[in-house]
Amino acid sequence: MPNFRHRLSASQRRIYDRSDAISSIPLKVSPRLARAVNLLPVALSGQYEDAAEHRRKVNKVAQVICDEICLALRVSSPKVKVKGVRPIQDADEYHGLYVSEGHSHEITVWMYTAKRRQVVAPRTMLRTLLHEVLHHLDYTALKLEESFHSGGFFKRESSLVHQLERAARKFARGRGDERGRQSAALALRSGRATAR
Ligand SMILES: [Zn+2]
Repeated sequence: MPNFRHRLSASQRRIYDRSDAISSIPLKVSPRLARAVNLLPVALSGQYEDAAEHRRKVNKVAQVICDEICLALRVSSPKVKVKGVRPIQDADEYHGLYVSEGHSHEITVWMYTAKRRQVVAPRTMLRTLLHEVLHHLDYTALKLEESFHSGGFFKRESSLVHQLERAARKFARGRGDERGRQSAALALRSGRATAR
């Protein structure tokens, strides 16, 4: 974004360049976080009594994802609000928003697309949430005075998405193995062991 950078003051440029130089946020993914990443598509595609219940379920999972990342990095966690249809402003469809005022930090993500009012795809939802969490981490974990959409910022976003997806897959495989072992043990006990 060279054009954008030229419009910045000297002190802002220093912040921008620091932001640009950091390409990843190494994270120890807790089992609770890996589980929540797997639960996000489940919550989005589930059947619910009504839209409010649907939104609450998605909100709960999104909050756990945000909390666990912040806990791992030892920073305060913002309040996550999942809202309905994405607002449109100046032809731009809002996916998410991060607002920080004093000690209050808040992330908003919307769960329905503006035009077709469809539930946002799970991967888009995850990426949007992580994008907003990364704005928070810029201020808190990285101690940047401003949070820019630098090249480094988008690299951090991709790196975080991939780390979480990898951990979530590994977690799901582990649970699959665990279930396999349990059913094998049960089969043995009931004398129905079969070679697999
Ligand atoms: Zn942003």
